[in-house]
Amino acid sequence: MPKDNDLLASVSNSSTESEFFSPVPEGYKKGRSKYCFVLGTVMSGLGKGIFSSCLAKLMQDKGLKVAPIKLEGYLNIDSGTLNPFRHGEVFVLDDGMECDMDLGTYERMLDQDLTRANFATSGQIFSSVLHKERHGDYLGRDVQMIPHVTGEVKLKLRELAVQSNADIVFVEIGGTVGDLENAYYIEAMRELAYEEGPNSSCFVALTYILEPQTLGEQKSKAAQLGIKQLMQLGIQPDIIACRAARPVTEKVRQKISVYSNVPLSRVISLPDSASIYMIPSMIRDVGLDFEVARLLKIEPRINLRHERKAWARWCDFTDKIGTATQDVTIGITGKYTSVRDSYASIINALEHAGIALGCNVQIKWIETTNLTDANAGAALAEVDGIIVPGGFGTRGAEGKIACIRYARENRLPCLGLCFGFQMAVIEFARNVCGIEKANSTEIEPDCPEPVIDVLPEQKKIEGLGGNMRLGGRDIELKPNTRAWELFDKAKSVRMRFRHRYEVDPRYVERLEKGGLVFSGKAPNQPIMQILEVPDHPFFIGTQAHPCLTSRPLRPQPMFVGLVAAAMQKRKPAHNAPDCLQAVRKVCKQPG
Ligand code: GLN
Repeated sequence: MPKDNDLLASVSNSSTESEFFSPVPEGYKKGRSKYCFVLGTVMSGLGKGIFSSCLAKLMQDKGLKVAPIKLEGYLNIDSGTLNPFRHGEVFVLDDGMECDMDLGTYERMLDQDLTRANFATSGQIFSSVLHKERHGDYLGRDVQMIPHVTGEVKLKLRELAVQSNADIVFVEIGGTVGDLENAYYIEAMRELAYEEGPNSSCFVALTYILEPQTLGEQKSKAAQLGIKQLMQLGIQPDIIACRAARPVTEKVRQKISVYSNVPLSRVISLPDSASIYMIPSMIRDVGLDFEVARLLKIEPRINLRHERKAWARWCDFTDKIGTATQDVTIGITGKYTSVRDSYASIINALEHAGIALGCNVQIKWIETTNLTDANAGAALAEVDGIIVPGGFGTRGAEGKIACIRYARENRLPCLGLCFGFQMAVIEFARNVCGIEKANSTEIEPDCPEPVIDVLPEQKKIEGLGGNMRLGGRDIELKPNTRAWELFDKAKSVRMRFRHRYEVDPRYVERLEKGGLVFSGKAPNQPIMQILEVPDHPFFIGTQAHPCLTSRPLRPQPMFVGLVAAAMQKRKPAHNAPDCLQAVRKVCKQPG
């Protein structure tokens, strides 16, 4: 019989006789990594990922190693085939994992590259269990939700602990307590906390405080019920973060404290914030970071010197928020314009660039479905620059090409991203090089002049799931080009990709003869990755998604360049920065 206080040692042998099945990866040291679980009650969309990333950031500032993971309830293996209109943008990690946009929040807040170990879906968990079953790994046993599926979840978390050697693993559970699809995750968390023992884990419940307009006061009942539901699952929260439109009153916090056995000091108010980058200081001001350190008995590992420095740097950044002295408007042409989440990284990258330049960037959404050469100018009349973002399919493509033409001919700063880069190639081919029928085979499969065509390596892969060129790739920069200057004359830069189509190499010479400059290419392969139009204030396109790697303290040079060029356009006489100068100034800060 295992001793009660050392369940884990006894469970690592997966004997079919024992009820204590809980696989543990090799090298796992109990107590090395602590766990902080973040769950949501009452409703989805509370910002669990934002909260979790901000708390993780505060612990990272203290010199602790943190590793976030998001557990998704859906059965897809990754987020690759999800419609951004329904689920927000598909975020791509350097290792090619297509995942939830929350991973972007973690990467930005922590300034840390994540991997597929930081993202799990029910699809991955179940497929791994089924694979093991076929492989005979559970021989003699009926394979059950408990302990096998929950065991797989715990294994994933412990693998992350081993691999990252984290002091704290932050586990965000997608969905809301009470959802059928995440119930087994919550059960796995309960088991893990039990197995790891006291002071090994901490549960944070995010909840929502309603304030019906007709009453004009905050009501806590829904929050109480949500927390009760969590407690019925055997989980006692340690911290309750109350999301609300306005600061949560002491009375409401007291009520929640009484009903949930959580001390008032750990029931905190988290009202809406204009910028997510202000949330770390909201959490820090109420001392929640040190509460977590105490709960996890991790104080001896804290480095206060490290924290002082990190916090000072962060405050230098947040102090600039809301102090802009100039406005610019950037138009974003796209078809998912009704859901901002579909362009989350672009919005973030613009925000980083704007804050760094002391400029308030307004976004104007431009629906391109009905745009043509005749009316594109009118649609772009009020913008100081445009972004033509990534996209798939035919709808709105001709409108995007019309916008790009207008921008090129009228010296409007323009940044084309992935699909936007491809549309810029088509526009240049048609209107400058005279290849009138130029198009992409994605839009016109039998196109006679396929300047954009399927990548040969992608042609071999059938089906729609997982057949894109994905993840981080190096781009070789061509000396003496704008891109080369933007990246501080580097030999190469690394960016993330997610595409099936590319510039057909057979057209490169004609396009270059026409004046288009390919300033970034894949090393040793004829894959065009950055283009620019010389003698234009700012006209750049890239096959990559530079927005995915923009960080608050390290704004992405292409976005800084675009915003600086837009500032110059808006107020040419007002000492607005030259875009290259501006990039040099704000992107040179220590990383
Ligand atoms: N549809 C284009 C391709 O697959 C562009 C993809 C994108 O913008 N992410 O190549």
